[in-house]
Amino acid sequence: MLKSIHPFDQSVIDEFPVLTVHDIQAKLDKATLAFSHWKKTTFAQRSDVLLKAAAILRKNKEDYARIITWEMGKVISESRAEVEKCAVGCEYFARHAEAFLADKIIKTEAYKSLVAHQPIGAVLAIMPWNFPFWQVFRYAAPALMAGNVGLLKHASNVTRCSMTIEKIFHEAGIPDGVFQSLLIDNSAVESILEAKIVQGVALTGSEAAGSKVGALAGKNIKKSVLELGGSDPFIVLEDADLDLTVKIATQSRMQNAGQSCIAAKRFIVHQKIKDEFVDRFRQSIDALQQGNPFDEKITTGPLARVDLAEELEKQLKQSVLQGAQLVTGGERDGSNFRPALLNNVKPGIPAFDEETFGPLAAVTTAASDQEAIAFANASRYGLGASVWTKDRERGERVAREIDAGSVFINALMKSDARLPFGGIKKSGYGRELSEEGIHEFVNIKTISIA
Ligand code: NDP
Repeated sequence: MLKSIHPFDQSVIDEFPVLTVHDIQAKLDKATLAFSHWKKTTFAQRSDVLLKAAAILRKNKEDYARIITWEMGKVISESRAEVEKCAVGCEYFARHAEAFLADKIIKTEAYKSLVAHQPIGAVLAIMPWNFPFWQVFRYAAPALMAGNVGLLKHASNVTRCSMTIEKIFHEAGIPDGVFQSLLIDNSAVESILEAKIVQGVALTGSEAAGSKVGALAGKNIKKSVLELGGSDPFIVLEDADLDLTVKIATQSRMQNAGQSCIAAKRFIVHQKIKDEFVDRFRQSIDALQQGNPFDEKITTGPLARVDLAEELEKQLKQSVLQGAQLVTGGERDGSNFRPALLNNVKPGIPAFDEETFGPLAAVTTAASDQEAIAFANASRYGLGASVWTKDRERGERVAREIDAGSVFINALMKSDARLPFGGIKKSGYGRELSEEGIHEFVNIKTISIA
């Protein structure tokens, strides 16, 4: 059984039986048949489906936002913004996929040489609960526009979201079997990856899940893209505009109750302004309103599950035991965790070394740009980063030295359909979104005519 539990009060919303082995096989057969037709459709036909999906998302935004908030607890305004972002993502790939996948003529000594981009089969998506709509549309829009078919294994606590997304594509006119939600637990993934029709897997989630699924994909010689954890550095140089910096620091760390792979987690601050930054950051964190995520005034909802809040509490307590100073917050009631700020955090302390997946900000002091870069890179992760300085050239110099998939200067680190998104080191490999993302799950085929 897959259980959906409302994180704010732990009430059980619904329970769903998992598919049997026989059901799964029927879905794989359906995907095989659907692929044989879908791969031959034109870009215009595919983009028609995605544009309709975007319109449906906008029309029913409120209903979908409520489903998200019921199942994983983010504040309702953030759920609405997430649904809107999905519509924008669908429109982006509906409009640009054809150009991204156009033949590329390469001059050689042959009569004609070209690179074609062709669909490969079914792409399995193993998705997390933190952005239960966006993570799925981010994978599905490019995969479907490329002529692949989609199979979704969503996180077991957001089954209604999974079923709703399947329904959206059906209402948008997608042919039967081109996008299917699989209600399975994670033990069923191994046999699905063995199926001939499945030619790739995209996973967003923890390092542990990524390592297991990456190994299974390797065993079956299937392409994988892994988008895993992050411990993004947020580097504040002494000439930063502190009003803007503190505002975005709070937003980056605390939105979605801190449950984002690209949330700023480690705040590496120049010693000249560290005390002022910590003081202002504390005030900003203390001004957050924690409570029922359906209440429009609330800025911080619960964590998605009690075990996630317990883990965060453990990381906070251990960090304090090892010398970090608790400036504010950190009290826990069930899955509700009061936004917290730690000062004097150093390498070797959990809040520095591990991913903290909740509203917990950790401040580290640096004496120079080089020390800030060294702290930023002293992490097993390399997903995103940001640098705050009034000097753009200095910001770019620092950005080039940071080990991360993306670095934003004086702006919130976020995903954007137009820009490649992904990480290095234990944050995973491969890219999503943009032209680079759509090329991950296609056959980049060389044709050379003598
Ligand atoms: P998981 O990585 O366990 O879950 C993410 C997805 O992977 C879910 O669909 C899950 O399915 C699936 N999964 C887990 N294990 C396997 C497996 N062995 N084989 C196949 N699929 C698997 O994340 P959690 O929800 O447990 O969160 C734990 C931590 O992971 C967080 O605290 C955070 O650090 C990190 N995380 C990072 C995210 C990101 O955006 N990069 C998103 C979510 C979590 P099922 O639900 O059925 O287990």
